[in-house]
Amino acid sequence: MSQKRDYYEVLGISKSASEAEIKKAYRKLALQYHPDKNPDDAKAEEKFKEAAEAYEVLSDANKKARYDQFGHAGMNGGGGFGGGGMNMDDIFSQFGDVFGGGFGGGFGGGRGRSGGQRTIKGSNLRVKMKLTLEEIAEGVKKKIKVNKLVNAEGVTSKTCTTCNGQGRVTRMAQTFLGNMQTQTTCPTCQGAGKMIDYKPADADANGLKRQEEVIEIDIPAGVEEGMQLSVTGKGNAGPFNGIPGDLIVVIEEIPHDTLRREGDNIHYDAYINFADAVLGESIEIPTISGKVKIKVEPGTQSGKMLRLKGKGLPQLQGYGTGDLFVHINIWTPTKVSKEERELLEKLQKSENFQPKLDGSEKGFFQKVKDMFQ
Ligand SMILES: [Zn+2]
Repeated sequence: MSQKRDYYEVLGISKSASEAEIKKAYRKLALQYHPDKNPDDAKAEEKFKEAAEAYEVLSDANKKARYDQFGHAGMNGGGGFGGGGMNMDDIFSQFGDVFGGGFGGGFGGGRGRSGGQRTIKGSNLRVKMKLTLEEIAEGVKKKIKVNKLVNAEGVTSKTCTTCNGQGRVTRMAQTFLGNMQTQTTCPTCQGAGKMIDYKPADADANGLKRQEEVIEIDIPAGVEEGMQLSVTGKGNAGPFNGIPGDLIVVIEEIPHDTLRREGDNIHYDAYINFADAVLGESIEIPTISGKVKIKVEPGTQSGKMLRLKGKGLPQLQGYGTGDLFVHINIWTPTKVSKEERELLEKLQKSENFQPKLDGSEKGFFQKVKDMFQ
C-alpha cells in the first residue's frame, strides 16, 4: 500500500485554510473527478475518494484537530478509514452539506452519515395555555392533558424495500455539469430505512396511535401573550421509536378585572371623590400580590399618575421588575341631594374653586415622559 498523502496536499490548501476554503477546494475536486464525468477511470475514482476522505476529516473540527496533531496515525486507530477510504454512499451523502440546495435539491437532502439512514423525528404538538396575571407574575407549574401520538405496542418493522434499508435512493439527475448521480431521501420510508411489517389495528400508517398524557410544564414568570415555550421531546412520538417532537406551549393572557398590563408595567385606574382630592386621603389599590394603601396628597389633580416601583411584572430573563402606575380619576356624582346641592352652589361661586392654569398642567404623554426621567 502506498503512503497516504497529506490531506492538505490532497485538497491543495494550506494548513491555515478557512472552513470556506476547505469546502471550496473540495467542491472543485469533487466535480473534477466525479465518476459520472470520468467513467471507467480508476485513477479519477481514486482521486475522488481521496479528496472526499480529506474533506471528511478537515471539515470536522474535532477530526481536524486530531489530524493536525497526530497526522494519519491519529485517525481511527491509525488505519485511516479502515484502509479502504470512504465508500461511494458516504461520499454522496456528504454532498448535501457541500453543495447545499443549489443543485435543485439534487445532491440529497439531510445530513445523514454512513448508510444514509436517519431517525425520523416526530411532529411538534401545539397547545394553548391560558394564564392569569397573577400566574404570570409568579411563574407557575401547570399540568395539562394532551392527546398525542405515541408508538403503538406490538409494531414490528422490516427493511424498506424501496431503498434496501439505505434510507436514500440514488438517481441520475441533469445538472449544468451534465448527468450526475445524486442521492435523495427514500420517498417510501422518509429516510428511516424501515417500513412497517406488522401493526395493531389501532395504529396509523406510521405505527403510531393517539394517547392522552398528562404533562407538567414549568411556566417562568414574566411570559407574555403569544409567546411560545418549547418543551423538548414532549411532542408526538417519532415512527420506529424515533426522536419525539417538541411540545409548543402558546401563552394566552386572561384579562385581569382591574389591572392592565403593558410590557412589564401594570396600570390601574383609581377613582376618588372630589373631597378626597381636595383634602387628601389614603386609598386602597389592588396589586398582583395583594392590596396596598397609598396616600393621595391634598390638592391632587385629576389625571395625576402615581408610580409604585417594583409592583409590576418580573422580566422574563430575570432582570428587574416593572412598575405599577396608578392613574387618579376624580369621580363626579351624577345625582345630588338638596342639601348637597346647596353646599355645592356655595362652593361653585368661591373664587378659590376657579381653575387656575399656570402652565404647569401637563398632558398624559408629558406625565409619562416625566416618570422616566
Ligand atoms: Zn426506504
